[in-house]
Amino acid sequence: MPISSAVQRYDQLILDLDGCVWVGDEPLPGAVDAIEALRDAGRGVAFATNDSRHAVEDHVRKLWSIGLQASIADVVTAGAAMQHLLAETRPGRTVFVIGGDSLHRHVADAGCRVLNGTDLASRAEVVVTGHSERLTYDDLRNASLAARRGADILATSRDATLPMPDGLWPGTGAILAAVEVGSEREGQIVGKPEPQLFYTALDRLGEGRTLVVGDRLDSDVAAAAKAGLDSALVLTGGTNREQAEAAKDPRPTMIAASLAELVLGNG
Ligand SMILES: [Mg+2]
Repeated sequence: MPISSAVQRYDQLILDLDGCVWVGDEPLPGAVDAIEALRDAGRGVAFATNDSRHAVEDHVRKLWSIGLQASIADVVTAGAAMQHLLAETRPGRTVFVIGGDSLHRHVADAGCRVLNGTDLASRAEVVVTGHSERLTYDDLRNASLAARRGADILATSRDATLPMPDGLWPGTGAILAAVEVGSEREGQIVGKPEPQLFYTALDRLGEGRTLVVGDRLDSDVAAAAKAGLDSALVLTGGTNREQAEAAKDPRPTMIAASLAELVLGNG
């Protein structure tokens, strides 16, 4: 299938997953065809998601399950972006981590030393915060003490809530807020709406004209603007056409009903 003139002028695309490629476990209509058409046309495709609760491997498996070939290098989570940032700016540093197994692995893979479980935890040089379902007061105490001693606080996101079948659970932002209040310090965010996730995707894709596609103004479009990238807002997730057309700052470069319409056109 040929790709539309709207995307023809880009060398590569960074695609949001939830609300753009799939919703929950269901692929959005035409999304798989659109991505295959982009690849057939020689366009680079990377997937970028704020979700750091699931490992990169889980997202790769889910992409295969909807019929798309994908490798670990194709998927950038906030955890992977954290690894990239740490490896580039803080290699060899000591880190106290609040987060799941996957985030612990990303920090170690960045070449940092994880101090969790040691007597030195509260003296870590960096505090890394993600989503944790096993958060304890000890974690908050170690993170806060380390931050008061000068450690930078790096967090995967500031998302206040986590949508679950029985309602909104406290998100990573709620945990980060506890660390920030306890230490009277402010954290730096790696996930959208900050640009690091896209910097990591660009590091994988290489140079070229790049289009970001996502369903949210306050995360995808905002992060694209901060990274200096064009963006396409799709209406298959968190934003309706009225909101999309009223958007001023940030404003998407283009608006499309869906990824399929953007890439394959209406015909
Ligand atoms: Mg989304």
